[in-house]
Amino acid sequence: MKDLIEKAFRDDKITRRTFLKGVGAITVTYSLGAAGVLGIDAHTANAAEDEPIKYIHSCCTVNCTSRCHLKGHVKGGRIVAVSPGDFPGRDDYPNACLRSMSYAQRLQDPKNRVLYPMKRVGQRGEGKFEQISWEEAYDIIAAKLMETKEKYGAQAASFFTMSGNLAKLAWESTTRLGATFGGTTYITEGLMGDHGASMGMRLVYGQERGGHDTRDYMNSKLIIMWGRNLADTHTSDLRYLIKARENGAKVIVIDPRQSSTAAVADQWIPIRPQTDPALALGMMNYMISRNLHDVAWLKANSCAPLLVRDDNGQYLRINGSYAIWDNNSNSIVPMGMMGADPVITGNYTGPDGVSCHPSFVDLAKEAAKYSIKVTAEICGLEERTVEQLAHEYATMKPAGIRMGQGMQRVYNSFAPFRAVATLAAVAGYIGVPGGGASHMGGTASINPIPGVNVPDFNFAEWSNTGGAPFIQEKSSNLYNKMENGDIKFLWIGVSNFINQSPDANRVIKDLLPKVPFIVHVDPYWTWTGKYADLVLPGKTHWEVWDILVRSPWVMLDQPAIATMGQSKSDCEICTDVAKRIGLGHLWNKTDEEWVRTFMTSKHPAFAAFNWDKFVKEGIFARSDGIFEPVFSFKDQKYKTPTGKFEFYTEKLKQLGEEVPTYKRMLEDPQGELGKKFPLVCINYHDRLNVHSQHMLYPALKLVTSEPEVQINTVDAQARGIVHGDKVKVFNDRGHCILKAFVMEGIAPGIVALANGWTPDQYIEGSFQNITHFTINPVEEFISQTNSAFCDVLVEIKKV
Ligand code: SF4
Repeated sequence: MKDLIEKAFRDDKITRRTFLKGVGAITVTYSLGAAGVLGIDAHTANAAEDEPIKYIHSCCTVNCTSRCHLKGHVKGGRIVAVSPGDFPGRDDYPNACLRSMSYAQRLQDPKNRVLYPMKRVGQRGEGKFEQISWEEAYDIIAAKLMETKEKYGAQAASFFTMSGNLAKLAWESTTRLGATFGGTTYITEGLMGDHGASMGMRLVYGQERGGHDTRDYMNSKLIIMWGRNLADTHTSDLRYLIKARENGAKVIVIDPRQSSTAAVADQWIPIRPQTDPALALGMMNYMISRNLHDVAWLKANSCAPLLVRDDNGQYLRINGSYAIWDNNSNSIVPMGMMGADPVITGNYTGPDGVSCHPSFVDLAKEAAKYSIKVTAEICGLEERTVEQLAHEYATMKPAGIRMGQGMQRVYNSFAPFRAVATLAAVAGYIGVPGGGASHMGGTASINPIPGVNVPDFNFAEWSNTGGAPFIQEKSSNLYNKMENGDIKFLWIGVSNFINQSPDANRVIKDLLPKVPFIVHVDPYWTWTGKYADLVLPGKTHWEVWDILVRSPWVMLDQPAIATMGQSKSDCEICTDVAKRIGLGHLWNKTDEEWVRTFMTSKHPAFAAFNWDKFVKEGIFARSDGIFEPVFSFKDQKYKTPTGKFEFYTEKLKQLGEEVPTYKRMLEDPQGELGKKFPLVCINYHDRLNVHSQHMLYPALKLVTSEPEVQINTVDAQARGIVHGDKVKVFNDRGHCILKAFVMEGIAPGIVALANGWTPDQYIEGSFQNITHFTINPVEEFISQTNSAFCDVLVEIKKV
């Protein structure tokens, strides 16, 4: 066979692309005939022509910040159209995007779906599978789990999920099965590349989420979308940004790419990747050196006046309390003392003769390193651009910042969110209308938050692991555990793991071969599925009973179409497996029964809940819901150790990171590696997909039909590349081949690839072949390493 392929290449009978597309395909052997495979089509064929359209509601449960309520138009057991569903209390908010409107095409096409339990019959990666029965699949899994437990202990079984379906049962079933079995589960934000923002936010705010409802920008004079592409990745909220601009606010987008949001903004600032902390520090320095910072806000609400010991960099404490210098009494007093007038500058002597200073001194000192000139050089911007930005941010009061996920996918991933939020604090914009430094979906801050500040749903029974310890490891440990042979059984649910994780060559060649048995549950054939031993057919959110909690609403997923093949929900699959391994007593409900149980909360907010109405309308609004624009930290209360907005983190003193800092990229274009690979390669999220979930839907193909690499005209010309050329993007880890998209709308020295495309859609290779996963000790100390998908150097050549 190998000889034949080589001969064909020599004879030019097949192109390399044809060959790769061939091996990229999945070969499946179904034992049922066409009628079985195409059951949904047979169902439709039998439907009466004049059958009326039924409306069945669902919630879009992909990992997009919008979380839209959808209305399926169903006829003959098929979804024939999708339109936006209502949001009670918010007439302005219904939304559905191109992705969800065309999703039905993919989910109802049997060619795309895993229809039956499939067992690998070829080599891993070959894509050869044969159909088996559910009974056989369950027997294999149960035997492997019990064997793993007996030989190595239950923890040698890993249960890994990402965010392919965020509905309650779909997202949590795999983890719950792992927990009830006593296996290892994972906090996956790190490997996914979403954890830098959470770490940065937690350092300064004491919580990982918080921000301003986008409608609050009607109160803003200036709005900065800092690495946030609202137009493509939070479509339901773009309308409010446009309205705020019509209301007179200036909109600035800071992004290495001229994103769709930049296209509708007043100004695009093409910053170099990873330099966001330097820009924030430069802006702080501009303000502090011109006395434009909000001293009153800093004194009242931040750690700025808290005294720090010169000898060890820890906060000074008096009788266990943080301490300040009081100008009124000319003495050191406990923080919060009535009538005290704290200072944020100067040097003082403490009770035991220890010298100390307000923590703001450290921040100002760090910021002072970033003059306009230095900042402009680091960020790749003109000095007047930095100066104008700093001046407008300080003086167009109030100014709001919305931060996006892209800027945290770098090696020092916690730094950008921490520094930008600190900038907002220095300006006194935190907790004020029209201000803030918000984390992606600003609406995440809408109160009440179940389980946080109001009683939760009735999740008690679902949370019960039956006494088994709930072992959740950092996802940053996953690669090492695989490499060390510590994982004997791996269940991958709601995740195209290989496609969405860094360094695919390492994963495929070095890591997965050390895992003896892999189960993958997914509605679709994926890159990950090709490397699994068993692929089980999951259901989509249009085929299951489930809920998605998006306070103040709860949205319902319910079956809208006939079951595709023999697919089952993640919860049904876990339930069936649990019954075979002696855990049936913990998995004793159908999906619908679980959903009904969740909604039996005794909280007064649920008093008006009615199941039939819920099914009919697909959404329930809590009676204690707040539907007006809200924003976080209005009360100026922070869950940090000091209870203040905390830009000075004493536990990070030992690592030299006590205040926000800027560090160069791990893969530095101006370092040694940059001589070989001079281009910074970033990865962005596009309007056509949420991760790998919406690629190549027939309707979306009209917009984009293949991956492209965006490259600046200057860089393209230097390499003899013109628009549409086939190019190779490569570094020492691997490569991908795709078309070049030559444009002015990306800063020189940077190239960009859209997230989500899979190897079948590239001419060759994948974006993940060039990425890396490098453990960051500082991030491990704080929490866990975040994947640095945008801290990658490459070269590009025409092929
Ligand atoms: S992909 Fe996002 S914007 Fe589109 S319907 Fe789903 S949740 Fe809404």
